[in-house]
Amino acid sequence: MGAKKLRVALLRYTPEPQEAVAMGAKLCYSAAGIEDLKQGIEAKSQDAFLERLMEFGHLSPIEHASFTFGIEGVSRSLLAQITRHRIASFSVKSQRYVSEASMPKGGAVFGYVIPPRIEALGPGAVKEFEDQMSQIQKWYDGWVGKLGNNGESSNEDARFVLPNAAETKMLVTMNARELLHFFNLRCCNRAQWEIRALATEMLRLARKEAPVMFRDAGPGCLKGSCPEGKMSCGKINEVRIKFKDL
Ligand SMILES: Cc1cc2nc3c(=O)[nH]c(=O)nc-3n(C[C@H](O)[C@H](O)[C@H](O)COP(=O)(O)OP(=O)(O)OC[C@H]3O[C@@H](n4cnc5c(N)ncnc54)[C@H](O)[C@@H]3O)c2cc1C
Repeated sequence: MGAKKLRVALLRYTPEPQEAVAMGAKLCYSAAGIEDLKQGIEAKSQDAFLERLMEFGHLSPIEHASFTFGIEGVSRSLLAQITRHRIASFSVKSQRYVSEASMPKGGAVFGYVIPPRIEALGPGAVKEFEDQMSQIQKWYDGWVGKLGNNGESSNEDARFVLPNAAETKMLVTMNARELLHFFNLRCCNRAQWEIRALATEMLRLARKEAPVMFRDAGPGCLKGSCPEGKMSCGKINEVRIKFKDL
């Protein structure tokens, strides 16, 4: 346990996601039967058709493709942010069923995330942060004991002393349309560093499997002026290069 780093894996996704989307879109515009459509789509690349679809902004067909990510090494602070995205499905490690007490974990401190700006202050600052986490572990263990060491009924109240830094793990599924929206908000430099790092990695992984659908995905400034107005980070060229070369 102790300090944790972000890890993201694309665990599952709709097979041939771009073909599934092309099927949905072509069905809207064609008199052909479903089997004929399927054969036509499998017979040749759908890239040019998909490019036009994305340009039109006819986005409901991309809801047919879903992507499931396994995420660990993120904080409960990130959890509060990502779960605001309502058109997503989540499974999150429980703080009731999974004890954070040091003893079942061989005396280890619960997992936590150290913000990079605290790390950048140097080893002294990191040590101070780690000591604070160890202190919280002692408080947590103390409450588990006082609450009778009764599994979930002790854990559910002892967890109230755990910090936003406490690590969590989750499975997240989003369809491609929700992913585009999520990337638009959370890849932006105005988003908080942790969810921005996560969103950027999710985009990199999704783009590998569905390059046309996610080619222009990312913060709002990739396609036009910065939507943040006066709050803009002022780094539009840098941001565009970063997301082109992900
Ligand atoms: C930089 C940044 C700072 C933020 N700061 C704060 C903050 O200080 N406080 C705070 O509370 N939140 C904050 N948020 C969270 C933000 O307000 C949203 O809750 C979050 O980004 C989810 O976005 P969403 O609602 O567009 O997306 P989703 O829930 O992913 O929904 C996607 C889209 O579906 C549509 N939709 C979904 N549900 C409904 C509905 N019920 N009715 C109508 N349309 C719907 C909307 O078009 C929506 O954009 C912040 C977000 C960002 C990116």
